[in-house]
Amino acid sequence: MIKPSEAFAGSYARARVCFLEGAAVAGMAIRSHNHPLPGREGETLAMDVALDGSPDAERLLIVSSACHGAEGFCGSGVQVFAAHDAEWREHARAAGVAVLYIHALNPYGFSWLRRVTNENVDLNRNFQDFSQALPVNADYAELHDLLLPAEWPPGPDNAAAIEVWIAQHGQARFQTAVSGGQYAFSDGLFFGGTAPSWSNTTLRQVLRTHGQRAHRIGWIDLHTGLGPSGLGERIFASRNDPAALDRSRAWWGGAGQTPVTSIYDGSSSSALLTGLMWCSVFDECRQAEYTGIAMEYGTLPFHDVLQALRADHWLNGHREAPDALRDAIRQQMKDAFYVDTDEWRVQVVAQARQSLFQAVDGLSGRVSPG
Ligand SMILES: [Zn+2]
Repeated sequence: MIKPSEAFAGSYARARVCFLEGAAVAGMAIRSHNHPLPGREGETLAMDVALDGSPDAERLLIVSSACHGAEGFCGSGVQVFAAHDAEWREHARAAGVAVLYIHALNPYGFSWLRRVTNENVDLNRNFQDFSQALPVNADYAELHDLLLPAEWPPGPDNAAAIEVWIAQHGQARFQTAVSGGQYAFSDGLFFGGTAPSWSNTTLRQVLRTHGQRAHRIGWIDLHTGLGPSGLGERIFASRNDPAALDRSRAWWGGAGQTPVTSIYDGSSSSALLTGLMWCSVFDECRQAEYTGIAMEYGTLPFHDVLQALRADHWLNGHREAPDALRDAIRQQMKDAFYVDTDEWRVQVVAQARQSLFQAVDGLSGRVSPG
């Protein structure tokens, strides 16, 4: 076992090396899916996949990072820690559970310190049926120009106008308007895209390769940026299925733990969303009973995270921005999604580890829905 502080890296390039080394030392089968674009340091970008266990296992646990690129510092650290954690690996092996680590679902965003993909797409709003009419977010349309003003940083008039909107409609509706996803502004925030992104099609390929033999599939998808700092909210990650929600609450609801929250009953700090990534399991692994959560670790208050995202999207539309402003915005993004302290890293690893053990117990039938 390594220390939590040794599992986390300060850049995508370094995180990737740590993950590949950890997986190789553990003897996992590794496959890399290279991204067409280079990273911020000129490095190769890839969705790296490592399987710990039999490719024919009837029970499969997926552990994934960087669905939202800049959130990958956290998720990668958890994955690297797990690869070096002999007790955890033995627990899964003894239960007949194979563990599929997917490192950097969105490697471009991870490397470039963006939450979105190279297509400016929020991957967790991108799993829509694009042959059908897409959701309409009228509230976002009202707010778009305020969120992305011509000048950055925005002046006091801009902040006041946003405050007026919130005073009129409420904070909860503001959060849903901004973060619920929109399909009309390709330069905007939480844009779900108009076609499957590279990460979408690559993930589906990974699921077809690894997920079509298991009878039961669990998934822990690692995120950051919502909720109190260091607290890992376990959010039900599936379509709206009450039986699956009961199962996830049984698996991840031990004594003293806060219950698994859900966007479908208003118990989660996340807004109600559509186009969710995890729903790809129902397309690609139809034979399996699926149970999943997102672990959402808090970093900074919502307002600070939103300011970073607004700045990042503004920067994406203003390539002429001076270097000092560009560097400041990239650092603001990193700080919004990764708390660079040992205290935070220890909290992250402890809660992730508990969820990993619980997932194996759930997959192996040691827990029954209450
Ligand atoms: Zn996220």
